[in-house]
Amino acid sequence: MIRNWQYTHQYQQDKRQILKIVDRVLSSGQLILGEEVRRFERAFSAYCGAAHGVGVNSGTDALFLSLKTLGVGPGDEVITVSNTAVPTVAAICAADATPVFVDIEEDTFLMDVRQVEQAITPRTKGIVPVHLFGQAVDMDPLMKLARAHHLFVLEDCAQAAGAVYRGSKVGSIGDAAAFSFYPTKVLGAFGDGGMIVTSDNSLAARLRRLRFYGMETAYYAEEEGFNSRLDELQAALLHDKLSRLDDSVRSRITVAAAYMLGLTGVGDIVLPRILAERTHQFYLFTIQTQDRDALKEHLGAKGIEARINYPVPIHLMRGYAHLGYRTGSLPVTEKLAGRILSLPIYPEMREEHIAEVIITIRSYFAGR
Ligand SMILES: *Cc1c(COP(=O)(O)O)cnc(C)c1O
Repeated sequence: MIRNWQYTHQYQQDKRQILKIVDRVLSSGQLILGEEVRRFERAFSAYCGAAHGVGVNSGTDALFLSLKTLGVGPGDEVITVSNTAVPTVAAICAADATPVFVDIEEDTFLMDVRQVEQAITPRTKGIVPVHLFGQAVDMDPLMKLARAHHLFVLEDCAQAAGAVYRGSKVGSIGDAAAFSFYPTKVLGAFGDGGMIVTSDNSLAARLRRLRFYGMETAYYAEEEGFNSRLDELQAALLHDKLSRLDDSVRSRITVAAAYMLGLTGVGDIVLPRILAERTHQFYLFTIQTQDRDALKEHLGAKGIEARINYPVPIHLMRGYAHLGYRTGSLPVTEKLAGRILSLPIYPEMREEHIAEVIITIRSYFAGR
């Protein structure tokens, strides 16, 4: 049975180290905004190639607080994609702005940067590219366009920690970047967590204030703020895992390579495309097939959990109907929603389990 994508394997593997860290932090007497958070902020921002890291309590908050700090407010438009996790769009709405969607590229699932210019209006304030599934959006033309129109770029790096685009890590390219440490992410905590990474000094200082009730010194608010903190325990556990992030991504890439080899030419399967001058972290390994639903069922019957990321594009969800999109608004996004299937992938995945997935998919197409 292939059920767990990740954490139980990881916990079993690293149990002693994890419990040692838990003991150290709980014995320290400092649980909120202490040395562990500062250490991890320094380490993670350095890993990304940016000057500052600001730990917050989720990727959603990392996006929301960044948007606030970048000056987004009522009446502003922010360009992004509908083919993403709901929080990308929820954060834009929470900042009182209006998300404006552009379509995606059919072979990469990523923002079609060529469509962004047409989406710019006098109200456009910024762009949120999403490095979906672990691969970077085409950032050079996007940054050029943003600079020409005086727009900010906030990278949604929730699925792509460590991904490289033309020699730069994601998170070091835009004005600011949001990361999630949700347990299943490439760098996952044992609970919720997130971080904003930026090389802008004043942006970082303001974010530190906003996450802590708007305060710089105790009991005195400089401005209206929030409570959004990464706690010491998660920071310490994440810091430990950061040292193994590149190794764990290498393991993901090995799983992906086995899938690529084993699934080439099987049925009508379209394999994920890895673009030149980019790494793919393989947060998800997503194939396309006409027979998506039947294949998913076939896998499920063998105890293999494949997922659909994402079954309904956000612009067609009831919760976002007020944005005024309808079926046909984003043809590529809508077409892919009916064809995509994410196969199990996690660093600890064993060879026989990978083989089992491949054999089960082959048997589906052989028996048709
Ligand atoms: C997970 C995710 C988020 C939100 O992160 P949380 O930590 O769950 O709030 C935002 N954007 C994308 C693309 C994600 O995958």
